[in-house]
Amino acid sequence: MSQPSQESNAASTRATEMTCDVLVIGGGPAGCWAALEAVGANAKVILVDKGYCGSSGATASAGTQIWYVPPDPAGREKAMASREAMGGYLSERAWMMPVLDKTFESVNRLADWGYPFPVDEKGEQQRISVQGPEYMRLLRRRAKNAGVTILDHHPALHLLTDGGTVTGARGLRRQEGGQWTIKAGAVVLAAGGCAFMSKALGCDVLTGDGYLMAAEAGAELSGMEFSSAYAISPAFASITKTALYRFAQFYRRDHSLIEGAGSARGRSVIARTLLSEPVYARLDLAGTDEVKAILRRAQPNFFIPFDRRSIDPFTEFFEVKLRLEGTVRGTGGLRLTGLDCATTVSGLYAAGDSATREPICGGFTGGGSHNAAWAMSTGTFAGASAAAFARDKTGPSTVAQAVPRCPETAGTIDPHAVVKAVQDEVFPLDVNYFRTHSGLSASLQRLDRLWETIAAATAADESQMLQLRQAQAMTATARFMYRAALSRTESRGMHRREDFPEQDAAQHHRLIISGLDKLTIRKETIDPGVYREAAE
Ligand SMILES: Cc1cc2nc3c(=O)[nH]c(=O)nc-3n(C[C@H](O)[C@H](O)[C@H](O)COP(=O)(O)OP(=O)(O)OC[C@H]3O[C@@H](n4cnc5c(N)ncnc54)[C@H](O)[C@@H]3O)c2cc1C
Repeated sequence: MSQPSQESNAASTRATEMTCDVLVIGGGPAGCWAALEAVGANAKVILVDKGYCGSSGATASAGTQIWYVPPDPAGREKAMASREAMGGYLSERAWMMPVLDKTFESVNRLADWGYPFPVDEKGEQQRISVQGPEYMRLLRRRAKNAGVTILDHHPALHLLTDGGTVTGARGLRRQEGGQWTIKAGAVVLAAGGCAFMSKALGCDVLTGDGYLMAAEAGAELSGMEFSSAYAISPAFASITKTALYRFAQFYRRDHSLIEGAGSARGRSVIARTLLSEPVYARLDLAGTDEVKAILRRAQPNFFIPFDRRSIDPFTEFFEVKLRLEGTVRGTGGLRLTGLDCATTVSGLYAAGDSATREPICGGFTGGGSHNAAWAMSTGTFAGASAAAFARDKTGPSTVAQAVPRCPETAGTIDPHAVVKAVQDEVFPLDVNYFRTHSGLSASLQRLDRLWETIAAATAADESQMLQLRQAQAMTATARFMYRAALSRTESRGMHRREDFPEQDAAQHHRLIISGLDKLTIRKETIDPGVYREAAE
């Protein structure tokens, strides 16, 4: 296979052109695993990241629990059954099993590579979670040492296509200035999900860019109605680590207890209370000093904003809010056609939060273990498939073109105003958390009008190009979400319809969405063999 090469840098030092076998877009865990697998298959790999691969994205700043389950049949059965009902029976064991196998293998590889898993009192490593900085630093180092070319601060803006096949991408060089074009035999999209710049921890780079680029190339998305994940955070900080709220009780301003409020099943009670008044929390269920010390050790970054303000969260009340995490801890994303992680567009593969996670967690959140496993396993599958696709391709592509979405001549707009307009539609709990036909359709109409005005807009200058694309991607993602949410006239997984509060056996299907100016939605049935009884 070819060497990554810098073909031309001559016409302008501000424009670079490179070629490779596999281009990976996004350098979170999914992208790193994809790059490692592809380079291991002898492909020449370039990985581009909007930020810095190793410290950008949802895992790098947070760390994750992992769906790491040793291969004993009883344990695996329990693991697979754990989210089936909560996810509305939209997951598939034909996906769960290979994801569990690959995750087990990948985490064990991390241990072999020297990841410092903590050791229990019996001297055994606890491999069920990783700290983001150590994990991502290790993946970056492994990828670099294996020969992956990593281009930091190189956001992708557009895919290149040739006769319906994706042949690379084009983007920005944020530090040097100018633009890059990379022609590739295959592309893996691993650009994460979309959290709508809600300031959720590590998520402001996750603006749905991959969904927009793929939809422009004709790809389908699935499960976009399962995008209403909100995390509890202190009102004064972006730390959305929610595990510690298991030790919290929730209060009104007058310090009276809000009955039924909680971080897991009681989150709706918090949301409903927030519609009319502020909510306060206190970690007062962490009874002893020993427990408090354990919690501080387990999640040190949770406490940083409290310590900075000299607030003791174990004894003092602090105001909380729900921050939208969209598809990051939701499950919607690009539809995969099989375990090879191919999208519906030739030459384009997807991994991690760029892809729908319905196959392993249905409509319930992928946070808390499944998403991390998904990023590892789909990253690996996609990397292998992309390398094979590039290898089997006959001859180099000739006329690669950016997917035409933003004509150079259209008017300019203010990206910040667009972002604010989208946030006004997707943040409100009475529209996105407690969904109704009237709320969703009014919002979707405004988003459709917004899309009409911005779809063909161009940035005033290069410095605004990324902001514009992010604003367009957020608008497109919000429209996918609400179009799908309107079509699902029932409550299932995290999708709550106030006007249809029950799960409806007749809607035991996936919702597949495609298009941009005109959105098309269709139903996809799920192998009924496994779930017929449970779903009915
Ligand atoms: C606070 C928090 C805690 C979580 N805890 C857990 C947990 O305990 N267990 C669990 O399973 N999951 C958890 N999750 C979810 C988990 O972090 C994500 O599912 C996981 O990070 C997905 O990996 P990824 O590689 O797909 O995306 P990310 O890790 O988000 O990486 C995406 C990368 O793509 C880059 N990128 C974005 N756009 C572009 C572009 N246009 N061009 C180039 N690069 C781009 C970004 O800079 C980033 O580096 C948590 C999420 C949050 C926010």
